Amino acid sequence: MSAMDDYLATLRELEETGSAAIRTAADPDELERVRVEYLGRKARLTQLLRGIGELPHEQRRPAGAEANRVKRGLLELLEARAADLAAGVAAAAVEIDATLPGRERWRGARHPCTLVTDEICEIFKELGFLRARGPEAETTWYNFMALNTPLDHPAADEQDTFYLDRDIVLRTHTSPVQARVMEQWPPPVRVVVPGVVFRRDPFDASHAPAFEQLEGLAVDEGISFVDFKASIEYFVHRFFGADVVTRFRPSFFPFTEPSAEVDVSCTICHGTGCSACKGTGWIEIMGAGMVHPAVFDNVGYDSERYTGFAFGMGVGRIAMQRYRIPDIRLLYESDIRFLAQFARA
Ligand SMILES: [Zn+2]
Repeated sequence: MSAMDDYLATLRELEETGSAAIRTAADPDELERVRVEYLGRKARLTQLLRGIGELPHEQRRPAGAEANRVKRGLLELLEARAADLAAGVAAAAVEIDATLPGRERWRGARHPCTLVTDEICEIFKELGFLRARGPEAETTWYNFMALNTPLDHPAADEQDTFYLDRDIVLRTHTSPVQARVMEQWPPPVRVVVPGVVFRRDPFDASHAPAFEQLEGLAVDEGISFVDFKASIEYFVHRFFGADVVTRFRPSFFPFTEPSAEVDVSCTICHGTGCSACKGTGWIEIMGAGMVHPAVFDNVGYDSERYTGFAFGMGVGRIAMQRYRIPDIRLLYESDIRFLAQFARA
């Protein structure tokens, strides 16, 4: 066998093994090792190309042409394989497993106090009550004096109230909005006023220093206690159920006369007595009464001509009743697991 035959046989062997190694390279790293082995500076093909000068003169041209053909072929294969591997890596990176369960989105839920507030406002809307709002930081005039409560009244005591300034308090009830509404509009007036109020109460199972209240006010000529009682009973039957019984107990508030605490028969035991109603069969839901003439005088209404009724209830207490929530703190701790229960399906 001539030196030329040896040369060509070696080229063919390199072409075959090199092509196979390139085609089966499993990843870019392996492909790089194959490139160095077959086409690197120390590779046999490179040495063969350099060794052409040692061949007899007339064989140099065909041997060089063949060696370059093999080299070009391997380079083309290498380039194609590199592109395939790169595409494969990219494909693997975006591969989607359609069998994985989807990620559930947090839908959000309305707070139980908001649910109850909206429901109460909707019921009173049927009776012609509009929604009104007022400031949470209130002057002592609107919070106390306009409502016939002198500043030396226990309710105005620093121990019971958050004073921001000598004459500004965080409102202790939504009632000051009554006075603001009456100053702004002449009678007839029918409003419901939901909002947050503040008391110096400890944060325990049944008290919170900030809580939701809902106030109502109706003023017109000829409004009597019968209208008051009928309106409250309408609300109770719509909200708690047609079979629920209402009870008005005499009470005292500076801004109503006469005043009453309104109880409803316990919705859990239906009046026979249970732990929810502390064995009494009754649940207290609001304080209410006929608007005191002094309040009308304070806001410029003619107290000889107009009468009206007002009521106020703790929305949190009613939400606790409605949803059987045992601790008022659950309403104000922003625990998403608690709130998620109120998400509508
Ligand atoms: Zn009960």
